[in-house]
Amino acid sequence: MKESIESIKGKLKETGFKITPQRRAILEILLENDDKHLSSEEIYDMVRVSCPEIGLATVYRTIQLLSEVGLLSKLNLDDGCIRYEIRLNKDEKHNHHHLICEKCGKIIETKEDLLDGIEELIHQQYKFNVSDHDIKFFGICEDCQKI
Ligand SMILES: [Zn+2]
Ligand SMILES: [Zn+2]
Ligand SMILES: [Zn+2]
Repeated sequence: MKESIESIKGKLKETGFKITPQRRAILEILLENDDKHLSSEEIYDMVRVSCPEIGLATVYRTIQLLSEVGLLSKLNLDDGCIRYEIRLNKDEKHNHHHLICEKCGKIIETKEDLLDGIEELIHQQYKFNVSDHDIKFFGICEDCQKI
């Protein structure tokens, strides 16, 4: 299900984020690639196609702002670049998990939280309220298992 810029605009307005043409171009790229995990350089390269005058600093700044308002989440694969993905449904307050193939580098997402039981256990044993988690599973994907 793709969400439109228009509905996001409403959400952003509440946070005081102003949509300039350049920011809009960045948002469009993020929405078109909502199943991917792009680095800021990749976002920059894609935005430049429709918005050639944009600078890398503007891209960084916009990414920063979108992260601050909770619309982007960061994914760090410890490979030296931070990836970003748009997070449209803030009601899904917990992060999904990433399955990372060690052979082809593909990133698969689990849509489910899967951790409700563990979160409950943590709460019982440590009186700790879990607000989020950032979990990466490393292994071999289905395609690579066939090779
Ligand atoms: Zn959770
Ligand atoms: Zn693979
Ligand atoms: Zn993801």
